[in-house]
Amino acid sequence: MDDKLLSCRDCGAKISKNSDHCPKCGAPNYVRKKKMELLMGIGNLICLILAIIIFIYLNKHFKPILHHGSPRARPAAQIRR
Ligand SMILES: [Zn+2]
Repeated sequence: MDDKLLSCRDCGAKISKNSDHCPKCGAPNYVRKKKMELLMGIGNLICLILAIIIFIYLNKHFKPILHHGSPRARPAAQIRR
């Protein structure tokens, strides 16, 4: 029945789920705030995972170049011996 209404934690007044603040006392809508924080947290997590995937991808594809860099230098050194 009252799915769209929440009780204010501070004064007990009914707040709309879509409202950011209690209309009676002005306290923030904790449920909405929590939801927003959760969404932002998930967004940050996705960004972090993407960054890790990109890092692993770059590491995998560019590490051989860095480690075996200048492969022509080795035969040249062998010829001198
Ligand atoms: Zn209130």
